[in-house]
Amino acid sequence: MTRYIAAYDTETPRDCLVACRRIREVHEAFAFPATFFIVGRLLEQEGTAYRALLGDVPPFELASHTYSHRMLREHPFCGPAVAPEERLREIRLGKDRIEQTFQRLCVGMRPGCGFDQALRGDPWLIDAVSTAGLGYVSSLLWGPEMTVPALLEPPFHYGAEGHPELWELPGHGWHENLLKGHNLTTKPQRIVAWPSPFPEAVPLRPITTPEEEFAVNRLFIDRAIALDMPYVSLIWHPWSLARFDPDMRMLRLTFAYVRDSGLEPTTYAGEWERCRGG
Ligand SMILES: [Zn+2]
Repeated sequence: MTRYIAAYDTETPRDCLVACRRIREVHEAFAFPATFFIVGRLLEQEGTAYRALLGDVPPFELASHTYSHRMLREHPFCGPAVAPEERLREIRLGKDRIEQTFQRLCVGMRPGCGFDQALRGDPWLIDAVSTAGLGYVSSLLWGPEMTVPALLEPPFHYGAEGHPELWELPGHGWHENLLKGHNLTTKPQRIVAWPSPFPEAVPLRPITTPEEEFAVNRLFIDRAIALDMPYVSLIWHPWSLARFDPDMRMLRLTFAYVRDSGLEPTTYAGEWERCRGG
């Protein structure tokens, strides 16, 4: 049976913290776990508030969204990769800040923006991530040729690159900020594949209501169940969720659908444990 992971790329000062307060309320109402991928530098300013907000909720996983969201690989929309020593800093300090703030082990990282090939083809990076002590990376966040939406890909490990202990746990669907036209630098119309591998999940214009967003989410959840995927996890950003839908109606609609469909909610760390075990 397919599981469900609610995950949040937490990256913007102030806005994400305010949004996470509302997100936590919805999770408490549904008794749903979550994974928060948090930019390490945010915690240098707002760590106390984040710890009070998210640190005492046992089913919440706190993971790294790198130290300052700089690029670990070349990215056509998000910019060039930074120098190797800067990449190492992004990986190591990102993990350190999570562990220092929340006083628990950080086992996973989602690189800023993510990539269409995950970490494949970059043995230096795979080695650096594994050597830093991370157990999984969630870096496959784009469809073919760096398009959206990201397709429903199952987890895999980097054994072919010499690191069978390092797992890739992909994210799925739209980067929801692009679905809403929230992105300031890239027009989403330029990054949809043609022909689309999943045309019914590509609306003809930016969505305007939480109900429309839920309808897109449901397509991915239904397809994941039909494909017998181990899990499905959409790519969400607290700042963008709150700007579009301050009452978090989409979250409530999606969680109710997940619950009614019988999907067990879990976290990326939970899924990683299952991968390792089996
Ligand atoms: Zn991000």
